[in-house]
Order: sequence, then C-alpha cells, then structure tokens
Amino acid sequence: MTDTTVQQVSTGARLTVDLGALSANYRTLARMAAPAAAAAVVKANAYGLGARTVASTLERAGCRVFFVALLSEALDLKPVLGPGAEIFVLNGLQPGGEAACAQAGIIPVLNSLDQALRWRDLAVALGRPLPAAVQIDSGMSRLGLPAEEVAQLAAEPGFFEQAPLKLVMSHLACADDPYHQANFDQSQRFAALAGRLPPAPRSLANSSGVYLGHAFHNDLVRPGVCLYGATPPETAAGGTIKPVVGLTAQVIQVRDIPSGEGVGYGLVHRATAPSRIATISYGYADGWPRALSQVGAAYFKGVRLPIAGRVSMDSITLDVSALAARGIGLRGGDEVELLGPHQSLEDVAGQTGTIAYEILTGLSRRAARTYIDAPKAAARPAPQLVKAGS
Ligand SMILES: *Cc1c(COP(=O)(O)O)cnc(C)c1O
Repeated sequence: MTDTTVQQVSTGARLTVDLGALSANYRTLARMAAPAAAAAVVKANAYGLGARTVASTLERAGCRVFFVALLSEALDLKPVLGPGAEIFVLNGLQPGGEAACAQAGIIPVLNSLDQALRWRDLAVALGRPLPAAVQIDSGMSRLGLPAEEVAQLAAEPGFFEQAPLKLVMSHLACADDPYHQANFDQSQRFAALAGRLPPAPRSLANSSGVYLGHAFHNDLVRPGVCLYGATPPETAAGGTIKPVVGLTAQVIQVRDIPSGEGVGYGLVHRATAPSRIATISYGYADGWPRALSQVGAAYFKGVRLPIAGRVSMDSITLDVSALAARGIGLRGGDEVELLGPHQSLEDVAGQTGTIAYEILTGLSRRAARTYIDAPKAAARPAPQLVKAGS
C-alpha cells in the first residue's frame, strides 16, 4: 500500500517502510522492558514514516499507549486507533488547545503549573474529571515542572480529583551514554519528585533508556527511534533492532565526460579520468544532506557510487564509472540505493555530523512511501499500563 497523499508529488524516489520489522522492533523493546509496558513515540509523523500506518501497525503488535509532540498530531491519530488506545501530547497544553484536547479524549502532558491549573479549570468548567500526565524536570531543563512547582501542584487542593493522574514522566538527557552519571542522577531525582505526587504509573526511558536496564524502566517505556530501525548505542547490551527503512532514488540522466571536466555547482568535482556521471532525482529538498557533497555515496548492485560534486536541491550527481568496469549497465529509470543493506541511517548521520533522528525525519517530504505489510500474525494482548487511582 502506498501513501497517496505523497504519491502525486513523487520524484520517483521510494521510501520503503518494513512494517514487519517495525512490529518486531516493538516486540523486542517490549520484551526487554517487561514487566513494564511499552508505549510508542510517533511524533513528527512517526519520525517521517507515516504516523497513521505506523501507529495502527504497532497497535496490532500490542501497543496501547502512544506519544506525539503536538495536539494536531494527536487529533490526526485518534480516529485510526481503537478505543483502548491512549494518546499523550508531549509538548504540553498550549493556550487555546484545552477544549479540543478534552473533547477528543487526548491526554496532555502537563509541563508547568500554569498548564496544570488551566487543565484543572477546564475540568471544573466541564464538570467532569480530565485525566492528565505530569512531566517533571529531573535535570534536562527542557520541559516539565521543576521541583518547586511539583511541590505547589502537590499542595493544590483537590487537583488530582479534577485531573486524575494517568502518568508521571521525565526524560533522560544522556541515555545514549550508558555510563553517564546524569542518568543515575536524573533517575533518582525523578523518583524523589514523583514520590511527592499521588501514586501513578511512572515513565522515564526513551529507546536508549530501554537499553539502560530495569532500573530505568519504571512502569512504562517510551521508545521512538529504535522502533524505526536506528541502532542502540554501541555500548548497549540487549535486543537486536532490525532495519525498517529503505530509500531508493531514480536515475534521470547518464553522461560520459572527459578527464578534466567539472561537475555540478561550483565545479568542485573535476574528473581525473574519463568518467560516467549519473544524475539522480533526489536532493537536499528531499532531506538528503548537502553536507554529503563530495563525501557520500549511493549504491547500485552493491557497487559504491560516490557523490561527485555538490548535492543540489533536487538532484545529485554520482560518479558511476565503477559500474562500467564491472560490466554493469545503468540507465535512466534505474533505482540506486540511498538507504538499505549497504548504507544505514547511522552511516549517513556519521558522515554529516548529525544523528539518525535528523536524517530519518527529513526524508519523506517527496518520496512515495511504500509499506511492506507486517505478516498477519494474531495480535498479542499488551501488558496493560497500571491504572492510576483506580
Ligand atoms: C522523542 C521522545 C521520546 C522518544 O525518544 P527516542 O530517543 O526516539 O526513543 C521519548 N520521550 C520523550 C519525552 C521524547 O521527546
């Protein structure tokens, strides 16, 4: 099945999402986290892979708890998930969004005392309790209530009757470094501050946090990027993550150039021998970093094809001379591998000084997304998130 909303603007590039691998990664992370439950973070359109399809697939794999960044993302997702699914909005309750959030049964992650009181006021106005999550800032200084506000919230009369606490959470700043002292400091501070609130399920770990071990799992883990095939930190021990994403781009022209000829903007590449250059319909507007100019490569039948010259907005020139030497033909319409067995997200991220997350979320603006369906296995019941206050 193909996402028709992007198909009509396709460059001929194909972003392949392996839903079987996605489900397998979910089960791997859920197994590592058990007896804690495993949620799925599907913000930013499931890291670019299509939130609706990803979330439905994960729901079939047993996931019941989903995190997005924005209310708009939650509203988009709500209709495709079953009544048992819970959707939390990580970026919190923005002024003006309260009524829509309550109406749709979406759970805001309250990130400040102000947000908490606005949510409570709405519950009072509506005359019904509105479930909430509370995020505590355990040391990242990004989102969440600092210690003083946790104390103020705990002292707010009747607050948790109006806004029953579904989840208390925090986020680790350094989970990708298993030996970082901040992991232990944040975990301790989170436990201490969460202890000031009424009993509720707790959540601290993102993908790397799952690999930190049971001390970090609490009641619910919140993996994102590892679901989508990014590999955990090298130092991490635990389940193996399968690649989920493949990306191919279409060759739109092939030419032979003499030695000494320049290629692309700035003519920064000069052929040092008679060369064959292939131009593909993919560029930095499609999310392929310009920093890969003269550095990166594509692959065809396993042969490395270096990027010759600068990455353009909508096209990239490859030196494909190595193919002819091996007797492999390449024509317009052929597809070269940008992500796949020969080149991982981490390879590309490493070559451009960024992280797999940024490559992944930048990709699919124009590429047609093709989903490889998950095998129709019987859905396994998920370990339920412990119900708070009930
Ligand atoms: C994005 C995010 C996650 C998921 O992180 P990954 O590193 O992708 O697993 C979990 N929790 C919060 C608060 C986040 O912002």
